[in-house]
Amino acid sequence: MKEIFVTITGFKHYYGKSVFAVGSLIKCVKEPDNAYDSEAIRCEYFPLKKVGYIANSVNTVANGTSSGGRIYDNVKKKFYVRVIFTTYSHIICKIVENTEEVRKEYEIRRQADKEEREELLKLRREPDITKDGRKIEIYANIGNMDDLNSVLYYGAAGIGLLRSEFQYLGRENYPRENELFLAYKKIAETMGEKLTVIRTADLGADKQAEYLNIPDETNPIMGNRGIRLCLDRKRMFKAQLRAIFRASAYGNLALMYPMITSEEEMDEIEAIIREVVQGLEEKGIPYKNIRTGIMIETPAAVMISRELARRVDFLSLGTNDLSQYTLAMDRQNPLLRNKYNDHHPAVLRMIKMVVEAGHAENKRVCICGELAADTALTEEFLKMGVDCLSVVPACILPVRKALRQVDLSQEKINEK
Ligand code: PEP
Ligand code: MG
Repeated sequence: MKEIFVTITGFKHYYGKSVFAVGSLIKCVKEPDNAYDSEAIRCEYFPLKKVGYIANSVNTVANGTSSGGRIYDNVKKKFYVRVIFTTYSHIICKIVENTEEVRKEYEIRRQADKEEREELLKLRREPDITKDGRKIEIYANIGNMDDLNSVLYYGAAGIGLLRSEFQYLGRENYPRENELFLAYKKIAETMGEKLTVIRTADLGADKQAEYLNIPDETNPIMGNRGIRLCLDRKRMFKAQLRAIFRASAYGNLALMYPMITSEEEMDEIEAIIREVVQGLEEKGIPYKNIRTGIMIETPAAVMISRELARRVDFLSLGTNDLSQYTLAMDRQNPLLRNKYNDHHPAVLRMIKMVVEAGHAENKRVCICGELAADTALTEEFLKMGVDCLSVVPACILPVRKALRQVDLSQEKINEK
């Protein structure tokens, strides 16, 4: 079988950042028959045992996302390829010449990754506590049903961010309420007592599907996205809320709203929730009074985080969007890659402000953006008093390792 080696050079979507290291060497093997595309190539990203596919035809559809093919860099005179690992991880790779030297290097790296992974796996059942005994919960972010097993395997406290858009993307029309309900019910039952936070559909901007008919926008990132789109399309929103409330009877679910910028949006949401719940009661459909949370993803939400905290049970910092809106830089613009600094003091200060505002209202504050998985910041977040971190399953163990090395005994923590 023909082997191809590629190295990661960047990301099409931002989401792979915490999992896939730039410079990693990946081996891909051409598979004669596969379900995705006759030209697709099977790749393994060893530390994750993930399988990806090189997208080399315009219509390749993998895990519900379509992607273009090879990219030719006119300046460097080189071909680049896009490797699709999950719905959100489109990784740009450069093909490396398959020489004896490269093969050897790959084996060395593979062995090192294996050893590191074996070490990490020992932490699978260890608690998430700091050296001085402070408990911090680590939750998982998932964007499809396949990730459910790894949430439990790595011992996450629950699901801190279910990116529910996966049921809306890569299809021809809106999902029906019952289809949504069955998926949420399955998740609720699989997770049992463990909490699952379902973020309501965060569509628009980079999450597009043709049937949504979202008119072209000059600035889609600043456009009709997230909660704005849901409040514009109330039928779609109510169907999702009904599905979530119906599924709540089968486990421990919570609701979370993306891209909130004002209390008026919360007024509208609360009215819709009352209507949905009343409808279920009239029909005698069982549901639980589930907890609700707001994602803090915009500077506006940061500035009114105390008011927002009063309206819900918890806050969750969406640092991916918060960073891009604070820095006024599109998180997916490759030209800004070297300028995009999500450790910027403005971003970190905002996180601290939100933790303080949430705690002042006696509410828990989590981080669910990719920064939560950045182990260089784990200690800083814990010092700020962050109550929980929600990361992609592959990052649960590295974050647990980092957290267990932190000693906060000398710190005065602003705790919930
Ligand atoms: C975020 O913005 O940090 C977030 C978690 O949401 P998403 O990345 O899905 O926009
Ligand atoms: Mg976001």
